[in-house]
Amino acid sequence: MKALQYTTIGKAPEVVDIPIPTPGPGQVLLKVTAAGVCHSDEFVMGLPEDQYTYGLPLTLGHEGAGIVHELGEGVEHLSVGDAVAVYGPWGCGRCHNCSEGKENYCTNAQAEGIMPPGLGAPGSMAEYMLIDDPRHLVPLGDLDPVKNVSLTDAGLTPYHAIKRSLPKLGAGTFAVVIGTGGLGHVGIQILRALSGATVIALDVNDEKLELAKKVGAHHAILSDKNAVAAIKDLTGGLGANAVFDFVGVQPTVEIAGASVAIEGDVTIVGIGGGMLPVGFGAIAYDAAVRTPYWGSRAELIEVLDMARAGQISVEIETFGLDEGPAAYERLHEGSIRGRAVILPNG
Ligand code: NAD
Ligand code: ZN
Ligand code: ZN
Repeated sequence: MKALQYTTIGKAPEVVDIPIPTPGPGQVLLKVTAAGVCHSDEFVMGLPEDQYTYGLPLTLGHEGAGIVHELGEGVEHLSVGDAVAVYGPWGCGRCHNCSEGKENYCTNAQAEGIMPPGLGAPGSMAEYMLIDDPRHLVPLGDLDPVKNVSLTDAGLTPYHAIKRSLPKLGAGTFAVVIGTGGLGHVGIQILRALSGATVIALDVNDEKLELAKKVGAHHAILSDKNAVAAIKDLTGGLGANAVFDFVGVQPTVEIAGASVAIEGDVTIVGIGGGMLPVGFGAIAYDAAVRTPYWGSRAELIEVLDMARAGQISVEIETFGLDEGPAAYERLHEGSIRGRAVILPNG
């Protein structure tokens, strides 16, 4: 089968031919219908050799959807032909956090060498994909896999981040979304559907700001040195009750820290390496700062329910598997509108 693999540190990913895997006991083989392209892949492929821990070659793709193709021995409650989405943050399934469905916060994964597909285990950018446990599959039902595959990360991650701040986002409040790309443009829709907040979106060019407005931002402003003043202006001088930074570079974490209101939340989702100094006087009184990772299995079910209810939808651009390297180039140059989705089986 064809797969898009990262094979050499510092080089672009390439399409290779590898054997179709066979599901062992308890495993499931999917025929992949769609695979999303996340900025975290670019982060991983940008790491120098001494910091790269994901194994080579690495079949990319941590957003995946597929059709159940073959069941390993002993797998129950799934049938060949079922349409499913992959819950990506694989954990041990036994620790306290996993028992709550929060495998994104598994406390055994590191010690046991359990890694998510596309981030250690072979990912979804291949014609077929091996799932280690049926627990990591969620039924898609009649949701279009191509339009919805990215909800497994670009939907789930902002949902998890936003859900914890909802008690602070009643009527008359303000939420800031920094970075309106894959995650951010879904985050805006989640905020509009679940909160009473006025949503202020920040990005670096007019096309991105236009998308932010289209998906529901009340205000869309450039992310530059005037951004904090603009946010203060829009919030009557008080700042935002919650700021979600889907970029996480130094300039954006600084905007996030400077624009949060008293008792507000700063949530840094982007992994751009920015550092926000926190201490008395450095940030608004009683502000909370969080750095969440991905989301729980139950939250993925909730996100898919939001899509079924028509509350959120992902803007996508599709690519064939052979066009995978080009999709990553487009992501790198910042010209993807919404999310790039690869169709490994055409
Ligand atoms: P993306 O490339 O689709 O979107 C990023 C957006 O940020 C783009 O619209 C870009 O124009 C904008 N941007 C860049 N610099 C900016 C700036 N200075 N100010 C405002 N906007 C700016 O990326 P994505 O796939 O949505 O991922 C976003 C970030 O979240 C990445 O760092 C990614 O690695 C990270 N991520 C984190 C988690 C997690 O669990 N914490 C999960 C998925 C992705
Ligand atoms: Zn991701
Ligand atoms: Zn666990």
